[in-house]
Amino acid sequence: MLLERLAEQLAAREAADLRRELRTATSPTAPRQRVRAPDGRERTLRMFCSNDYLGLASDPRLVAAWAEGAQTWGVGSGASHLISGHTAAHVALAQALAALLAPVVPQARALTFSTGYMANLAVLTALGGGDAALFCARLNHASLIDGARLARAPVVLFDTPAELAPLLVGSDAPIKLIVTDAVFSMDGHLAPLAELLALAEAHDAWLVVDDAHGLGVLGPRGAGSLAHLGLRSQRLIAIGTLGKAIGVAGAFVAAHPLVIEALTQLARPYIYTTAAPPALAHTTEVALGLAAGPDGDARRAHLARLQARLQAGLTTLAAARGWRLAPTATPIHALIVGDNATALAAAQRLAERGFRVPAIRPPTVAEGMARLRITLCATHTEADVDDLLEAMA
Ligand SMILES: *Cc1c(COP(=O)(O)O)cnc(C)c1O
Repeated sequence: MLLERLAEQLAAREAADLRRELRTATSPTAPRQRVRAPDGRERTLRMFCSNDYLGLASDPRLVAAWAEGAQTWGVGSGASHLISGHTAAHVALAQALAALLAPVVPQARALTFSTGYMANLAVLTALGGGDAALFCARLNHASLIDGARLARAPVVLFDTPAELAPLLVGSDAPIKLIVTDAVFSMDGHLAPLAELLALAEAHDAWLVVDDAHGLGVLGPRGAGSLAHLGLRSQRLIAIGTLGKAIGVAGAFVAAHPLVIEALTQLARPYIYTTAAPPALAHTTEVALGLAAGPDGDARRAHLARLQARLQAGLTTLAAARGWRLAPTATPIHALIVGDNATALAAAQRLAERGFRVPAIRPPTVAEGMARLRITLCATHTEADVDDLLEAMA
């Protein structure tokens, strides 16, 4: 019965153009990558889909750091943080992250996690229990949605600060958490973080910001979206991922010391899982140093030039086709074509020309909002952008 049921469900997805295909890379993450298709055919594709925004994922300096980390620490942590898996490599990484976020969160301390998904579950379940109330942006990432589901607090959704304000006024919950992506990942636009923080401060609430796509890309030293906007408050709980612009893996929460202590004591996704390998923490600390230094500055400047070039080209293209180009502050660019079949056909035709640009479809985005989602990396060249625009035209 189970197998029949699954076969039916999968056939329905396929019929709705919602089937997703696993493609297997056979070379490292880079603008040109070898990819094996489901039929076994292998070829080099021009990649416009990774989140490796600074182009650090295959950087030889980080490969060396990984090897050095493994020489020093071995490959496994052996246990969860609270048992015996917590090492000086994790502490050094957390301190570097706390220093990076110090301009945003006064007295920031940081705690590292194995993935952003787990960091989001941790924050929302540890802080959103009992008599708390969660106010969540409607476009939040799936991991924040799942965290809100797991938390026992009631959840209210909002689209805009104007919609949120009366909800906060009407809530008598003693603990109010406003929860939002900093950069909405399916089109790259920034959340109204300044307005949301002002509301948090006016209504005795806290602002939880998931900066998966802003960290490393936006702000001085790549400190992220909050730093980019010049925001600073003790009421901020900043979450960042380390597998996107930082190029490695993992995530962190930076916040008031008591919040961090509470997560260490209470957050099940922190406590009941094996600590990430210390060699990985070491590599991530080196990556963070690159991202926050002059090398990172140069990469961000190049990326900004590429973003402007691509957005200008896409604007012309969108106007010609009657498609909508989403405004963006980041290397994420979304050309909204509407129905699933059109998006899929466009992505397939680009793939035939050697470009990997994913078609993003429901449930990742709303019905009728299927899109081509193009992401840029600092390892792309201006010629890469021009070639893509030409192929799209
Ligand atoms: C990628 C992403 C996550 C999950 O981070 P991982 O480290 O990949 O688990 C969380 N939130 C947002 C907005 C993301 O884009």
